[in-house]
Amino acid sequence: MHQMTLAEIARGLADKKFSSEELTKTLLARIAQLDPQLNSFITLTEDLALEQAKAADARRADGETGALLGAPIGHKDLFCTLGVRTSCGSKMLDNFKAPYDATVVSKLAAAGAVSLGKTNMDEFAMGSANESSYYGAVKNPWNLEHVPGGSSGGSAAAVAARLLPAATGTDTGGSIRQPAALTNLTGLKPTYGRVSRWGMIAYASSLDQGGPLARTAEDCAILLQGMAGFDPQDSTSIDEPVPDFSASLNASLQGLRIGVPKEFFSEGLDPRIAELVHTSIKELEKLGAVIKPISLPNMQHAIPAYYVIAPAEASSNLSRFDGVRFGHRCEDPKDLTDLYKRSRAEGFGPEVQRRILVGAYALSAGYYDAYYLQAQKIRRLIKNDFMAAFNEVDIILGPTTPNPAWKIGAKNSDPVSAYLEDVYTITANLAGLPGLSMPAGFVDGLPVGVQLLAPYFQEGRLLNVAHQYQLNTDWHTRSPAGF
Ligand code: GLN
Repeated sequence: MHQMTLAEIARGLADKKFSSEELTKTLLARIAQLDPQLNSFITLTEDLALEQAKAADARRADGETGALLGAPIGHKDLFCTLGVRTSCGSKMLDNFKAPYDATVVSKLAAAGAVSLGKTNMDEFAMGSANESSYYGAVKNPWNLEHVPGGSSGGSAAAVAARLLPAATGTDTGGSIRQPAALTNLTGLKPTYGRVSRWGMIAYASSLDQGGPLARTAEDCAILLQGMAGFDPQDSTSIDEPVPDFSASLNASLQGLRIGVPKEFFSEGLDPRIAELVHTSIKELEKLGAVIKPISLPNMQHAIPAYYVIAPAEASSNLSRFDGVRFGHRCEDPKDLTDLYKRSRAEGFGPEVQRRILVGAYALSAGYYDAYYLQAQKIRRLIKNDFMAAFNEVDIILGPTTPNPAWKIGAKNSDPVSAYLEDVYTITANLAGLPGLSMPAGFVDGLPVGVQLLAPYFQEGRLLNVAHQYQLNTDWHTRSPAGF
């Protein structure tokens, strides 16, 4: 049962082969048995899940249909869940029970999805290895000594290990696509503004975007359908019609122009990954796509620009955690300053503190022009590069990450080497574009992802290309030994 995709689950539930309650119980038992090896959940909500599953079964018995009605999922632990701990992977929010549901959570619940729990993540979504969580590192089911990627590493590990068919994630600089690549999943970061950020704890507000992690493009289409849409509660939500993402999956790729940027094959790329990317290009050519070499000349500035903008926004967003209104409060504060200082020093881990320091520095008088303003200018140049490229091509293709999953702890002493792993993913966030990672092979037994980028609001095109690729390859069907 646990091997089924969301699409198969939807068919099975519609044909009354099993109930949502049975499926939910099977997966909860599997989580209890296997998750101690992975640490992919922070909080399990068994009672709520069984309640939602029974309600979904009753709705189906009443004749209601819907691909998500009765489908088990998990939520990254930065989506607020009413009455359930929403920790953001931080000691700061270990005691925080959200007083409301995030829009993504309430929309998926209304569609009948069953939430089994809250998945582990890098603290405040800062990281690409899921090692900065207050609740401990998450293990990659493909090799338990390796990281699953981050920051949505708990969602990725749980789906890859078949503890869940799909889960929500968020992507500020790659946190859906990168863990998808490192665990053999399909993950989609939608266009900025496509999915509501209301109730999604903010890291860097101009970059953060929620999206689906699943095994197939077909399943990402189903989950995204339930998440996307205009939300008046989020001032950056965009009032654009949401197409039927499943309807375009079968469009032909004949004549599709795929741009391959030379900058995506930079020095730091593992040559074995480069080879797998070229193999996937050949596969898409066989399906009728036409390949065009392109250039994104400002890509080399993306990491420095991102690591100014993201920490700058984080330093401002995280100022609300002051020990006064919610979250961790230190014992016996002497005065208000002591309360702020100790609550924040005790509540935030080292990576979060580092980013707050960097961000506050970049925004301070005298440095603002030199760092923050420059970074914003580079951001515009990167967007312009994409706009020029999309005049020539329909889609851009390259590797998702320069390396496969590294060993837990291997990059701990050198944060910059971890920052460099985001080199291919962060440009889409800086430009606000949609991007997808799909399984494309293995290196040393560890999964490798290929990334597709599309113009604004063309998530359907990404899902279409990935689905056609998946109809003709079987990488996405491989499951890790032991799971
Ligand atoms: N690794 C990047 C960072 O630490 C991206 C994280 C994310 O997308 N949330 O900022």
